[in-house]
Amino acid sequence: MTTKECMDLADSHLLHVYNRFPLVLDHGDGVYLYDLDGKEYLDFGSGIGVFGLGYNYKKYNDALKAQIDKLIHTSNLFYNAPAALAGEKICEFSGMDRVFFTNSGTEANEGAIKLARKYAYNRDHGSTDHEIIAMKHSFHGRSMGALSVTGNEHYQEAFRPLIGGVKFANFNDLESVKALVTKKTCAIMLEPVQGEGGLYPASEEFIQGIRKICDDHDILMICDEVQCGMGRTGKMLALENYGVKADIITFAKALGCGVPVGAFAAREEVASAMVPGDHGTTYGGNPFACAAVNVVLDIFKEDKILDHVKEVGFYMDQKLAELVGELPNVIGHRGKGLMQGLALAPEKPVGEVVKACLEKGLITLSAEGNVLRLLPPLVISKTDVDKMILILKTLL
Ligand SMILES: *Cc1c(COP(=O)(O)O)cnc(C)c1O
Repeated sequence: MTTKECMDLADSHLLHVYNRFPLVLDHGDGVYLYDLDGKEYLDFGSGIGVFGLGYNYKKYNDALKAQIDKLIHTSNLFYNAPAALAGEKICEFSGMDRVFFTNSGTEANEGAIKLARKYAYNRDHGSTDHEIIAMKHSFHGRSMGALSVTGNEHYQEAFRPLIGGVKFANFNDLESVKALVTKKTCAIMLEPVQGEGGLYPASEEFIQGIRKICDDHDILMICDEVQCGMGRTGKMLALENYGVKADIITFAKALGCGVPVGAFAAREEVASAMVPGDHGTTYGGNPFACAAVNVVLDIFKEDKILDHVKEVGFYMDQKLAELVGELPNVIGHRGKGLMQGLALAPEKPVGEVVKACLEKGLITLSAEGNVLRLLPPLVISKTDVDKMILILKTLL
């Protein structure tokens, strides 16, 4: 199939909701992707923060192939060993007690919202009048529940009415959160580092302040670690950077490093609010998806992925910071570890920069507020960071 044939076919049959770039990715190796014409791309997007281990990671591929030949799906009518093992591993690194597997980040957040409501239903003796405080410029997904807590009017407008009882506070403004707390508040939901919203890390004061509000009022703290978790910031959880524990944590993106799998995890006292019949999924936690989670978490340990992220993340952070004074079109820089953003001057629309990067063989992403977002595979090398910086210098 040629690039044109593929694009024509897709444009005739797929729902038109993505502004795709006119190229067809065909295969990958390491941190490089190749299109149908054989052109090479250095990947600083990882399929939006998913492909943490890069492409063709042998241990990962071998484990998936072995599981395919054994058993792919069972439904949740039965137990399966990969899910049990993956659940244990997630509890171990997250400090949570119970896990529910989903197929995406959206569904993980959907489940977290349901769990928070059920917990509050019990807390308030059967009342269903509850509120969730979420953050402006947040992103939690596109299903009706997850969209309802996504603080982006543009995504929400045409799809109202959304679920009720959601209020939005300003990220990193503790007083704005306090002002919204009432007896009905059942959860405060946030990303420790906002991704789509523009690569804003939460301040320590903000995260610790939210923890205290939650403790004082029996409110659940829900942390969406879908993008910033799984090693992205140099820790398994972005939240670990703050010395704070959440009540519910959601995962996806790099959890399966390419296989669609998400999860939400909770402390026992919270998790026990859910009883048989309250929640479920057909695919979620199937042996294939969970084999991916298992091998990913094994590789993180065996191949010391976090140490690598800390080292290269620090390097990339420094290199990007240098661009702020050096290039007139770069007006700001922020992020944590291998989750970094460059704020561009209004004269340089990020969409055009992403396109120009592609022409030069570099895949990048954008984020809200004219921000160039960089989420390389976690195995990226300093040499590849240098290559990326060089390309940005020629374009900015
Ligand atoms: C991507 C993302 C989601 C949604 O995940 P999907 O797998 O696309 O459903 C939710 N929260 C955050 C923070 C994300 O970055």
